[in-house]
Order: sequence, then structure tokens, then C-alpha cells
Amino acid sequence: MTETKQPTLTILAGPTAVGKGTVAQYLRDNYPQIWFSVSATTRDPRPGEEEGTHYYFVSDEEFDAMINNHQMLEWAQVHNSYRYGTIRSKVEQALEAGRHVFLEIDLQGARQIRNQMPEANFIFLAPPSWDELVRRLKGRGTESAAEQAERLDTAKIELACEPEFDVTIINETPSQAAQEIVEYIGLQ
Ligand code: 5GP
Repeated sequence: MTETKQPTLTILAGPTAVGKGTVAQYLRDNYPQIWFSVSATTRDPRPGEEEGTHYYFVSDEEFDAMINNHQMLEWAQVHNSYRYGTIRSKVEQALEAGRHVFLEIDLQGARQIRNQMPEANFIFLAPPSWDELVRRLKGRGTESAAEQAERLDTAKIELACEPEFDVTIINETPSQAAQEIVEYIGLQ
């Protein structure tokens, strides 16, 4: 029974465009015992994104205050632009409530959590191949050509971080990756 499992903290990281968001959505939809942390970010909402569901959208000043007040479990500036951070109190509350807490964060953030909570599960989501990663990045069409080139440069650096993780799961499809993730953390 899942109820008897110890609450766990799981970090889901991986290179840009690998499909972390899609796998995370699949987990949200199919595994109600998993609780995804909602991060704070200084970027503007995209169409369809809602305050408190996808992110807490905050100003630079508010983000500074959250850092200074030690409200961030970790934070990072991602793709050299906006800042993103995990809200410490919400994660702690969810763990105390016995939830399986997931953080879908970038690699800089994963390292910060590793320093504070080495007992967490660190999962690296990898693409089936480099060519497939390029195809996914170009296919989603949300970035300009210049942004795509920058993200691919970042992706090379990110892929080199794989050995820092406890396990690598290849994202062939969201359902297969999600299944392997829940098996790894012992939910199934
Ligand atoms: P997006 O702007 O596409 O929603 O997210 C961009 C990147 O920010 C993704 O790689 C995502 O994993 C990362 N990210 C989202 N929330 C956090 C967070 O709280 N902390 C860190 N370090 N990275 C985050």
C-alpha cells in the first residue's frame, strides 16, 4: 500500500526540451499520491498558465525578499534570464503531511538540494539521443533560432551532469518514463 511508504523527496532534472514538463504532467494526472512543488519565478506567465498552479509569478523585488528571508530551499537563474526557486515552507508542509514530493528543477537547483538533502532521490531524465533532443527543442517552436542555439549549448553542459544523479531514466514516452520513475521511488 502506498500509504505505508515513507514520504520522500524526489528531484526530477534533465536537459532543456527533454520533456520534463510532459512527464511531470503525466505523473500529476496519474499518481495523486505525488505532490509537485509549485515554484516561484520572475518570468511572466505564458498563455494558459495560472498563478499558484504552474508557478507563483513574482517581481524581482519579491524574489529578492524571498531569498533574503530564507524562504527558498534552492533557487537559480535559468538560461541566463529569469530566476526560479522552490518555496521551502510548502515542501516541508507536504513532506510532513506524508506526501511524495517532487521538484522539477534545473541542474543548478538539483546540486543545491544535493548539498542540503543528500538522502533525496535524484533522477536524471535523458533523451533517447542527441538528435532526438534537437528535434524536440525545434519541434516545440516556442523559442527563436537564437534561443534554440543557446539552449542547445546549455543542453550539452546539462547532459554532462548525468553522473551526479542516482539514476538515469530515458524519456522515450511520458507514460514509460513516468512508470520507471514511480517504480524507482517504490510507489509501484
Ligand atoms: P520554464 O520557464 O520553461 O517553465 O522553466 C525553465 C526551467 O526552469 C526548467 O528547466 C525548469 O526545470 C526550471 N525550474 C522551474 N522551477 C524551478 C525551481 O524552482 N528551481 C530551479 N532551480 N529551476 C526551476
